[in-house]
Amino acid sequence: MMPIAKPFLGEEEARAASEAILSGWVTQGPRVKEFEDRFASYVGADCACAVSSCTTALHLALYALGIKAGDEVITVSHSYIATANSVRYCGAIPVFVDIDPDTYNMDPLLLEAAITPKTKAILCVHQVGMPCDMPALLEIARKHDLKVVEDAACCAGSEIMIDGQWEKIGRPHGDIACFSFHPRKVITTGDGGMLTTNNIELDATFRLLRQHAMSVPDTVRHSAREVIFEEYPVLGFNYRMTDIQGGIGIEQLKRLDSLIEERRKLAALYTELLQDLPVVTPLEPEWCRSNWQSYQIMCPGVAQKPLMQGMQDVGIATRRGIMCAHREKAYAGSEICRVPAAGLPVSEQTQDHGLILPLFPGMSEADVHQVVQELAKLLV
Ligand SMILES: *Cc1c(COP(=O)(O)O)cnc(C)c1O
Repeated sequence: MMPIAKPFLGEEEARAASEAILSGWVTQGPRVKEFEDRFASYVGADCACAVSSCTTALHLALYALGIKAGDEVITVSHSYIATANSVRYCGAIPVFVDIDPDTYNMDPLLLEAAITPKTKAILCVHQVGMPCDMPALLEIARKHDLKVVEDAACCAGSEIMIDGQWEKIGRPHGDIACFSFHPRKVITTGDGGMLTTNNIELDATFRLLRQHAMSVPDTVRHSAREVIFEEYPVLGFNYRMTDIQGGIGIEQLKRLDSLIEERRKLAALYTELLQDLPVVTPLEPEWCRSNWQSYQIMCPGVAQKPLMQGMQDVGIATRRGIMCAHREKAYAGSEICRVPAAGLPVSEQTQDHGLILPLFPGMSEADVHQVVQELAKLLV
């Protein structure tokens, strides 16, 4: 069976995990710190704070910005459900806008109509590794004095052109960017997340809140000569990354550029081979470089499930288009989320006619040819 995705983990990661275990310090410690420092310098952010997942990163980001009950946060429904959930964890209401059919990202032209006096922030998603149109989103955010959080879960290593310069996603372009290291993403620590920002105060807040709001971290207490009693000034969380994960993350980050290079080659081959098929291939605007976390095509007018079953039957895993949170039972009811009067037709069409094809490190050109050949047979 050809999988949809496969993490790339080698001897270096195994050794890093083993070293952390044998060091005797396995929770958040020096390896997490080194991973943070390397990640910050990789993306070009002043600060990076590691946490247990992107979901907890998104919650911390919105919480630290003061998002609370009664507030509205504009985001997309067309995303993994964790995006909208993070808004609800703060007691706020996710207000959904539709996506651009070319990039599957938030359509900046629809943004302003969703703003109300209760709007506090925009939570944009760089879906499946493709950067959003940040300059357009930021212009609207500044005009209306809104905070901007980037859900960059899939986007480690993707780039965007800002004022003629290539910059990494996470630099950050909004207030805070949040990354995931789940195995379905381009680099993994098993589970894990990262918040990047240039705001030192926000970073200090993340560091306090991720560790129960403990005034003196355990690492400091354990290495101190005197007895220190810690305090808990505010309500905190346990959102820590372990040092085992931190060690793995350091090794994964070293591989990131070469992993992306391989993914970009495979994606380009897909795009070339799919040209003659009745499908829509993903568009990469000239102002961005995707890390191709996923390769999603559209198969309009084709029944999705039989097509996926046909691929499954010949040993090739696929996934449907990215989900829409507003269609889930957990989002039923106008008090939970807001959907525009015109609905979210592009988001829904993308879920219903999108098809994610296998793309992973170690996949051969022959594998790509085989996927396209099998797809061609099913589409005639
Ligand atoms: C994977 C993903 C998340 C959740 O990440 P976790 O690390 O699994 O919590 C959030 N948003 C998007 C867009 C994702 O793809």
